[in-house]
Amino acid sequence: MTLDVRNLTVSYLRDARHTALAIDDVSFTLEAGTVLAVLGPSGSGKSTLLRAIAGLEVLDAGTVRWEGEDITRLPVHRRGFALMFQDGQLFTHRSVASNVAYALQIARMPAPQQRARVAELLELVGLAGFGDRRVTELSGGEQQRVALARALAARPRLLLLDEPLSSLDRELRERLGRDLRRILVETGTTALFVTHDQGEAVLVADRIAIMMDSHLVQSGTVAEVLDAPATPDIARFLGR
Ligand code: ADP
Ligand code: MG
Repeated sequence: MTLDVRNLTVSYLRDARHTALAIDDVSFTLEAGTVLAVLGPSGSGKSTLLRAIAGLEVLDAGTVRWEGEDITRLPVHRRGFALMFQDGQLFTHRSVASNVAYALQIARMPAPQQRARVAELLELVGLAGFGDRRVTELSGGEQQRVALARALAARPRLLLLDEPLSSLDRELRERLGRDLRRILVETGTTALFVTHDQGEAVLVADRIAIMMDSHLVQSGTVAEVLDAPATPDIARFLGR
């Protein structure tokens, strides 16, 4: 297994005297080239789980391994992971091309290779020829395409996406969801995708892990989970 998450627990201070668990003893594995949707209601701990895997949370317990190597204490920027959020968090003062090239600049890739890689990425996300535009001139969907190209630029070994389609209207969400699926498969990207929307999970993922009340309560292929929810609560959440 590529990503191995064991007993991950993160708490937060609820008030001066009480702590609560945002994620409680979460374990799962993710195989190379697989897209996993972490699906659950708002407040169930999905974003905390993603941030913990990225190295952005202080852990109470647990380990994160990548291809057998313990990376629990490795700093965020040395994990080789990329993150993408609901609002793409683009650099608004930069052009589309310069946003996409960001990680390549940091890696000091020579300019001609940067240009070629940026063109290839813009083509991949359906924005060929958009390089010189300002990101503020783009629609919400186009901005998320730029954010995806930027996240893929350095060929991350794991792509972590937190509700990347949630700010878009339904039609656009479906179109971009399908494209996202195609792009992840085409590039062979291993990805973990957080969403509260069952439709998005079905559209994008190979496997689903259900989070409820800080626990990972069921995981399996999309069909396994949807056809056989493990508890009445899960069935209710899935609308079965
Ligand atoms: P989700 O992404 O599924 O909506 P989150 O991981 O954002 O859930 O949050 C899980 C729970 O932990 C929620 O009850 C949230 O309010 C709480 N929580 C997470 N991080 C913090 C924090 N830094 N401070 C206070 N509460 C937090
Ligand atoms: Mg969240």
